[in-house]
Amino acid sequence: MTNEHPGGTAGTLIIGAGEAGLQLAVSLRQKGYTDPVTLIGAEDQSPYQRPPLSKAFLGGDMDEENLALRTEEFYSKHEIDVLPGTRVTDIVLDEEGHGGLATTSRDGAISFSKLALTTGSRPRKLNLPGKDLDGICYLRGIPDARSLRTRLAKASRVVVIGGGFIGLEAAAAARQRGLAVTVVETFDRLLQRVAAPPISDFYKKAHEKRGIDIILGSGVTSLHGSDKKVSGVELSDGTVIPADLVIVGIGVEPRTELAEKLGLACDRGIIVDSGARTSNPDIVAAGDCTIQPHPRYPAESIRVESVQNAVDQAKIAASSLLGHPSPAPAVPWFWSDQGDLKLQIAGLSNGYDDFLIRGEPDTEHFTVLYYRDGHFIAADAVNSPHDFMAAKRALTLGSTIDRSRATETGLPLKALIGEPSTESLRN
Ligand SMILES: Cc1cc2nc3c(=O)[nH]c(=O)nc-3n(C[C@H](O)[C@H](O)[C@H](O)COP(=O)(O)OP(=O)(O)OC[C@H]3O[C@@H](n4cnc5c(N)ncnc54)[C@H](O)[C@@H]3O)c2cc1C
Repeated sequence: MTNEHPGGTAGTLIIGAGEAGLQLAVSLRQKGYTDPVTLIGAEDQSPYQRPPLSKAFLGGDMDEENLALRTEEFYSKHEIDVLPGTRVTDIVLDEEGHGGLATTSRDGAISFSKLALTTGSRPRKLNLPGKDLDGICYLRGIPDARSLRTRLAKASRVVVIGGGFIGLEAAAAARQRGLAVTVVETFDRLLQRVAAPPISDFYKKAHEKRGIDIILGSGVTSLHGSDKKVSGVELSDGTVIPADLVIVGIGVEPRTELAEKLGLACDRGIIVDSGARTSNPDIVAAGDCTIQPHPRYPAESIRVESVQNAVDQAKIAASSLLGHPSPAPAVPWFWSDQGDLKLQIAGLSNGYDDFLIRGEPDTEHFTVLYYRDGHFIAADAVNSPHDFMAAKRALTLGSTIDRSRATETGLPLKALIGEPSTESLRN
């Protein structure tokens, strides 16, 4: 069966019904696009929020029905055709390269005149002896979170492999349920990939204070089991930590297989330009699956795994598909709730050569400000929303924050924002 749209217009096909795919569809409609829009997703649910899966949902404070990003009425009102539970398995472009046909897992094919890839990422998997034992869990989608929530209710000893955001959020949720929790991290500090040492040290101390054991600088060599169920985690020094539940949070891999089939350039993600165009400029891509340039981080292309990036890049992709000028790139920002600790990040600290600490980490309210070549580039604010807002504002304006007075906590950070640069970003 081929899905031909009425009037002979094939319309836009968006593959991947997550934050990026949904925003792309919405932005097309907001910009006045009237041809058909089809949003196709392999998961059984219509687009939903992932962040609560490792926070309120896992902790039992939020239900599944509150995860949906939009209602079914919204989709029908805006004529967005959402096809959940449907995987695109192949795509053939027509000879002119302006449209084509996508084959789906549902015994059908969909023709399109414009194509967008918002295929996201998947959790990186452990490849160790014992990796398939029952009780070894990953956390990406609703089925994972549902199963983990049920398992947490029955577990007593949890080992979390990976001291990044998802691992620490899941560890905090498990600990709040009163379980014995150990976090194992290969690097010698937590959040090594994304934050400076004071943030890593703070989180280690704060989680330990709340009863979580943290083991740093230790690899996992195998998973032990009995009766096909996990019973322990063996570390590189031979220690075995008993566990009846193991949560793995060791990063994600971009889903690039369709892009590769189409011959698009990929390197740790689908390579896109500042207009979210792939190496075939008629095809756009957005969200976790991409690697992109950013005017504030000219030294390297970046892969950003965040809701903000998925949403803002999708808006840019929609403009490119319609031949409109791109909106200015936005300031990257992110948050992580680990129990009662709220971390808000503005900007990207990659390549910082200096940082300073505003406030006292022991109070659990403080901010780390990052500088490169004397210019402010990012902030990590722990339980300090005003500092976060000021930092985001400074980055939006392209201003610096006066480092000589930034540690004066009696002075609001917003009072230290310098003159705007000529290249402001979007808020
Ligand atoms: C547990 C968890 C907590 C998080 N917490 C935060 C947070 O606190 N703050 C934050 O900013 N970010 C957070 N993130 C990250 C954030 O959720 C992601 O960066 C964002 O959802 C990426 O959106 P996306 O649309 O690019 O990709 P995804 O949400 O991965 O969506 C891509 C979709 O494409 C589908 N797909 C892939 N291939 C095909 C195909 N061939 N056919 C059909 N469909 C396909 C996938 O099934 C998937 O549904 C969290 C992520 C997780 C998993």
